Amino acid sequence: MSNVLQVEYVGDLAPYDYEAAELAKAGAQLTVARGKTAADILEAAAEADVIWLEWTPHLTGDVLARLPRCRLVLRWGVGYEQIDVAAATELGIAVGNAPTYCTIDVAEHALALLLSVSRQIVARHEQLRQGLWRSGPTAPRRLSGSTVGVVGLGRIGRRMAALCAATGARVIGYDPATGQIPGVENVGLDELLARADYVTLHVPLMAQTRHLIRAGTLALMKQDAVLINTSRGAIVHQDDLVQALSAGRIAGAALDVFEDEPLPADHPVRALPSVVLTPHEAALSPAAVSDLRREICRATTDFLRTGWADSIVNPQVRDHLRVPTGRA
Ligand code: NAD
Repeated sequence: MSNVLQVEYVGDLAPYDYEAAELAKAGAQLTVARGKTAADILEAAAEADVIWLEWTPHLTGDVLARLPRCRLVLRWGVGYEQIDVAAATELGIAVGNAPTYCTIDVAEHALALLLSVSRQIVARHEQLRQGLWRSGPTAPRRLSGSTVGVVGLGRIGRRMAALCAATGARVIGYDPATGQIPGVENVGLDELLARADYVTLHVPLMAQTRHLIRAGTLALMKQDAVLINTSRGAIVHQDDLVQALSAGRIAGAALDVFEDEPLPADHPVRALPSVVLTPHEAALSPAAVSDLRREICRATTDFLRTGWADSIVNPQVRDHLRVPTGRA
């Protein structure tokens, strides 16, 4: 019998009846522990063959090395920046994620954020709530015919590119790892920032992308450009962004993700009139959450039955994977 441990962060995904039933079919049992720190994981995971993670601080090599039974760590989400994948690989531990469950949702959310700013939906809605009618200058913008710059042309970026192209916008894109994508003009990052009316970010958080958007890159953007970020907060230097918005260096921003989450109640970005904010929930439609549960269970049971799963992100581990304890 294999043990799967779900390290739950806030408990909003419980109960796990579906997961327990799927695991049972593969001869595994589920244990759920509440945990936010590496210490919580170490305490709960001594007997775990598989660890399911929601949001926790970094699962460093140090922590992984103290989990001798663990063979697979799966992140309940797309990003897995909190797991030290290089250390896991060295230790023979596979790392995986749920790569496709929310592609549609995050792209739709990015488009909704873009339109909320371009059509002034939130600003006008707030005025109407206050009893006003067409108060102040109005300038809703037409997306069709404008230029959208997509940074990161993976699953979500490509979907966002297609949605924007369907409105009649011109789409330019930057991704060093992808070839020609129909409907997207490939350009360098500097050119994208200089030409786009809307810049939308869809890159993973890693050393090379941390603070990709900061004072120097914001300075390349047009003064009437809008930045949309649904990827990870730390892709954008948040203080530099607040400064650029306050100084009118760019026209606006729409953000689902923040460097500090939950966003502090007194954070200056909350007070800026030129931003639209959502609390990191682009991926949380019930349809996406159902798909997430299915993707995680499928990866786990595939791994337990066959020793591999399609969503493993460190394929280099395959030739020296840890073997199940007691069956070596
Ligand atoms: P993906 O892996 O399919 O695509 C990421 C793309 O970014 C890849 O094509 C990669 O080549 C590209 N890339 C890497 N470094 C780059 C760089 N420096 N410049 C330009 N492109 C670069 O991932 P995805 O499914 O499209 O998701 C993208 C990110 O969205 C995830 O990593 C995650 O952090 C974030 N996300 C956020 C939410 C949310 O709730 N807001 C939900 C899901 C995913």
